[in-house]
Amino acid sequence: MNLHEYQARDLLKAAGVPLPDGDVATTPDEAEAIARRIGGAVVVKAQVHAGGRGKAGGVKLAANAAEARERAAAILGMTIKGLVVGRVLVVPAAEIASESYVGLILDRASQKPVFMVSAAGGVDIEEVAATSPEKIVRLPVDPRYGLLPHQSLRLALSLYREFPQVRAAQRIMQQLYGAFMANGCSLAEINPMVTTPAGAVMALDAKMVIDDNELDRRPDLAALRDESGEAPSEVAARRAGLTFIKLDGNVGCVVNGAGLAMATMDLVKYYGGEPANFLDIGGSSNPEKVINALKIITADPRVKVILFNIFGGITRTDDVANGIVAATRQLKVGVPIVIRLTGTNEAQAIAILEGVGMTALNDMDAAVSRAVELAREAA
Ligand code: GDP
Ligand code: MN
Repeated sequence: MNLHEYQARDLLKAAGVPLPDGDVATTPDEAEAIARRIGGAVVVKAQVHAGGRGKAGGVKLAANAAEARERAAAILGMTIKGLVVGRVLVVPAAEIASESYVGLILDRASQKPVFMVSAAGGVDIEEVAATSPEKIVRLPVDPRYGLLPHQSLRLALSLYREFPQVRAAQRIMQQLYGAFMANGCSLAEINPMVTTPAGAVMALDAKMVIDDNELDRRPDLAALRDESGEAPSEVAARRAGLTFIKLDGNVGCVVNGAGLAMATMDLVKYYGGEPANFLDIGGSSNPEKVINALKIITADPRVKVILFNIFGGITRTDDVANGIVAATRQLKVGVPIVIRLTGTNEAQAIAILEGVGMTALNDMDAAVSRAVELAREAA
């Protein structure tokens, strides 16, 4: 789950990271009032789940409160990478002497949080990563010991030469690591971390991604979700208790179990097709889940065929068959449905489907290749 900058700032502040005060506004009036309270020059920043806001014109300096109002009026309602800006953050403008990058990601390969830092921070960090990766210093952290002082010292020395700044950067990295671990992050990033002409070090931006698996035990974090920035199909799926990820292909997949869902997608690709989604309807299969799944998948006009792949263990295949029958009665499914099912109550399932003139295949290969073929014919 992505957090907005203003939300990530709160979590970083709680961990001690020095951040300039600020507040969010949804109207130009509110932005002006915040700027007046801050006094002096401010920065008005679009709050959307997208990077590169600066380059897109979503981050603007304002010399005073009246100008902050104008900037907010321009930024509110603008579209950045397909997302409409509904909120802006207003913070005091900092004077910048240098910009560095400090990021922390959960690295699956090393199974550790890994720091990535670079003295070449700011809005071009993606280009730095692509063209001169040697400018990014990487350091894995063993979560049993945490970030050790010699490690943060090494990282900080790759950014700064002045010792007070080195110490300040070490502190910020320690705090960033604390916030990352305390909130179950898969990513936490400060870009830019700046030095001011007076020599202070501070964070001017904050980005955090929370691992979705953290949310069940942290309602305080779950409450930070902003569904306006998410694919509508993923929002609907989450509400229906389905594990769903939207993809770009045209073969809609309904599968029970994450492993089988992955294998099904692989096989779709093997036969030259492209899956439209990942969808795991879970172990227990009440017909309601199947109906919701079909609703979500058929809402995507790109889907040309729907492929069911059900391996009945705890899942009863007759439940799924009933769900398919009920769903096709309720919804106008305008695309062919290919069904493969095997396992628990298979004979009953086949009878239910045949009762309404549908057929079920037993073989996964046959079903997937058939679905891919139908998608190709329709496309
Ligand atoms: P992003 O483009 O979405 O990552 O948004 P950032 O918050 O990182 O802002 C983009 C850029 O705007 C930064 O890299 C800075 O160069 C600039 N910027 C942000 N805040 C300030 C500020 O307080 N003062 C000045 N002078 N520039 C700022
Ligand atoms: Mn940034």
